[in-house]
Amino acid sequence: MDWKPIKKHPGSEGEPRLAAYGDLARDFSWNAARAELDGLPGGRGINIAHEAIDRHAAGPHADRTAIRWLSKNGLTRDFSYAELAGLTARFANALTGLGLDRGDRVFTLLGRVPELYVTALGSLKGGYVFSPLFSAFGPEPIQARMSIGGAKVLVTTPQLYRRKVAPVRSALPELEHVLLVGEDEREDIEGAAGFEDLTGAASDRFEIPPTDPEDMALLHFTSGTTGRPKGAIHVHQAVVAHHITGQYALDLRAGDIFWCTADPGWVTGTSYGIISPLTNGATVIVDEEEFDAERWYGVLQAQRVTVWYTAPTAVRMLMKLGVEAPRRFDLSALRFVSSVGEPLNPEGVVWGVEALGLPIHDNWWQTETGGIMIANYASMDIRPGSMGRPMPGIEAAIIERTDDTVKVIDEPDTDGELVLKAGWPSMFRGYLDEEERYRKCFADGWYLTGDLARRDKDGYFWFVGRADDVIKSAGHLIGPFEVESALMEHEAVAEAGVIGKPDPVIGESVKAFVALKPGFTPDDALRRSLLGHARKRLGAAVAPREIEFLPGLPKTRSGKIMRRLLKARELGLPEGDTSTLENSQ
Ligand code: AMP
Repeated sequence: MDWKPIKKHPGSEGEPRLAAYGDLARDFSWNAARAELDGLPGGRGINIAHEAIDRHAAGPHADRTAIRWLSKNGLTRDFSYAELAGLTARFANALTGLGLDRGDRVFTLLGRVPELYVTALGSLKGGYVFSPLFSAFGPEPIQARMSIGGAKVLVTTPQLYRRKVAPVRSALPELEHVLLVGEDEREDIEGAAGFEDLTGAASDRFEIPPTDPEDMALLHFTSGTTGRPKGAIHVHQAVVAHHITGQYALDLRAGDIFWCTADPGWVTGTSYGIISPLTNGATVIVDEEEFDAERWYGVLQAQRVTVWYTAPTAVRMLMKLGVEAPRRFDLSALRFVSSVGEPLNPEGVVWGVEALGLPIHDNWWQTETGGIMIANYASMDIRPGSMGRPMPGIEAAIIERTDDTVKVIDEPDTDGELVLKAGWPSMFRGYLDEEERYRKCFADGWYLTGDLARRDKDGYFWFVGRADDVIKSAGHLIGPFEVESALMEHEAVAEAGVIGKPDPVIGESVKAFVALKPGFTPDDALRRSLLGHARKRLGAAVAPREIEFLPGLPKTRSGKIMRRLLKARELGLPEGDTSTLENSQ
């Protein structure tokens, strides 16, 4: 069906940041964006933590709440910019005291607790590299990421450590320091220290060392179709994009009460759950609890959230409860709502207008892009179902690719691969130790996103699908290879092929097809055993929800499992080109 455009919202107070998209897109320069930030005093470079905290802590807004933490058990704790400056200084000093070198990697495996935020910003302050792990990962994904990243420090809780890290600790020889968080931080775990003990003893003054704009700052893991997870490298200069995209795509202003519901274990939760709102002088709401519709509406109401950044899966879960539920809450403080991570159905955009009185602004980006690249802006009419238009400073195109040649498709409404002109500040600078994989992401000066999309005649981009086999489940990117590898560890499994199966709420759910070794019976008991094994190894966020036994899996003549064929068969779609199929003639 055709969806009517939604006129830009008339009721918002003040002018949207991006007053006239066309003018700004034309006149924009990254140098001017950079000039909105301070840089380190004395021209000593640019450091994310300075822009996010210290410069505010030294100014008139030092006492403004930087982070308001809502704990699972109903506690609220506010951290002002000044306090956060002190806490992160303590952490940076503590790390320096541990003898860390510049560029060493500091990982977190934590729920959304204040120590996660202190670790992120304190590590950046000290010139160390911050890498967050999603706390719902199981031991396998944790071990893979920590060994690829060469984790030297891990900040976690005793419970998470025991359940998820201890089983793989012997495979992490580079891990030197485990810092434990929480009331039982003094628990007896060999070689571990208490976070509070360590930071409490450190000074709350720290001078950020000179930081080159190209110094590595963040390491975010993402998945491809094959091989191990990839560590996408981001540098301190990325803060220029975090800052300006927050203003333009999220309409962020100083003093906003901003709630990004993404977990910092994923890139959105760091770029926009920590950095962007703080550089812009907003107050960040952090909710430790998981999704619950009533709770979420309650948070929006009680905290008087003004700008809300969420995800299509959450929107769809809220939609299931209808438009009446939000109407019981006073959401009058809300000014701007946006979402990211997976396609937002047009119904979701329209539901926003009915239920919240505001449309939901979809935007698009990836771990590799570091920040929002395509968005629906406050100042622009929304075409429901579209991702919007490129950020000022970003050139996006649709191309046709054959081997190494790239042909830009000028014709509107034509499907092709979405590409971005390389060179914006938050572009990833490499996949850690995988030069070849990085190089393959570029052709002719374009960054190849791996997404299929089209552009209409007015420059709005529309998402079509992925060009590869990665799975997006509840907004989380899952590499099928990682799931297949874990299944293959089970004694009964001869072959495994994993696909994303369309799901009305979470977008895609992980489904595995398994062929058994001789002597094993494909029954419910074995299915349960496999599901349990996968959950234990991979964690609930990554493990398959469904397993189907097959006598054998379709493979190419070179032995590669044809996931596309499994998917086509699952969905009853045409099988496409099967000429490379092992048993085809
Ligand atoms: P990640 O690197 O985990 O952030 O995942 C990035 C991928 O999520 C993109 O390449 C898209 O496939 C998908 N994605 C992100 N935002 C959107 C969106 N607004 N619409 C459709 N797909 C999206």
